[in-house]
Amino acid sequence: MAVADLEGAQDAVAFSSGMAAVSALAITLLEPGSRVLLLGPLYGGTEGLYLDILSRFGVDVVIVDEEELPEVLAERPALLYLETPTNPTLRVRDLGAVSATAKEHGVLTVVDNTFCTPYITRPLEFGADVVLHSATKYLGGHGDAIGGVAVGSAELMHQVRMEGLRHLGGVLGPLEAYLFMRGLKTLPLRMQRHCENALTIARALQENPAVEKVYYPGLPEDPGHAVASRQMNGYGGMVSIEVAGGREAARAFLDNLELFTQAVSLGDVASLATHPGTTTHQLLGPELLERHGVTPGLVRLSIGIEDPDDLLADLERALSSTAVTT
Ligand code: PLP
Repeated sequence: MAVADLEGAQDAVAFSSGMAAVSALAITLLEPGSRVLLLGPLYGGTEGLYLDILSRFGVDVVIVDEEELPEVLAERPALLYLETPTNPTLRVRDLGAVSATAKEHGVLTVVDNTFCTPYITRPLEFGADVVLHSATKYLGGHGDAIGGVAVGSAELMHQVRMEGLRHLGGVLGPLEAYLFMRGLKTLPLRMQRHCENALTIARALQENPAVEKVYYPGLPEDPGHAVASRQMNGYGGMVSIEVAGGREAARAFLDNLELFTQAVSLGDVASLATHPGTTTHQLLGPELLERHGVTPGLVRLSIGIEDPDDLLADLERALSSTAVTT
């Protein structure tokens, strides 16, 4: 209920992981023949669940781009699934516009709000129907508990609790529930600092010759900046960079980081770095990776709450070790 209050929802259901929440919702809502639109890229596990598993059970899964939405929503699919900013390319989706078009056609909008948390964006206020979280990330905040949450109307959450939760069994453990409640107490303070540090780092990395591109909605040059400024309270703690020199340079950069830990998770108070193409999004295969802009040189940084000067020094030292700048 704490997350329902923060998101402005009638009810919430807690799960043993973010993927347990994602899969319970899908199992509850869909049946053979249901059409689902995935506004990619999404977290690799989510895209994998829909494409590799649910499609085997007769769910018609279509990956769509934002420009196609008016046309494909008019065909009245069962649901539209999206993230904003997207994992790992940090593209911002206009929640108000997307949810309004979906609503016009009676399509349920599901938003994974893991990257923002309700401190930054509350998708229900923009017209979304269901919000999902991997609580493992910012809600917990300390990288020591795994959990997930779904929030929405009382009627829908009752159905999710009775079917997706009860029958699949991904119930949140009591110790984890306690850790998440404790994490929520510092959520605003942590999120403020994540956002401040991420903006400082994104700006500095823009000037670094070993970085070809910085993806961060807080930068005025970012294509999502205007929408982000309207719908986000701060621009989040995630920054992705294209390391000049591709896969080998990205590997050298990651291997030379000392303060950042190489890990696939995110949203921890400690900074983490990962190579999405070979970890979180690997199973999508080369074609989808290319379509989603998950390039060999892309590195995703989860900026923690440490001293930003220390973080920058670590990033700059590791970047100077990449082949291109030596
Ligand atoms: N949603 C997003 C945006 C994620 O990044 C992740 C995991 O990285 C998940 C869902 C899945 O969450 P969990 O790891 O708690 O199963």
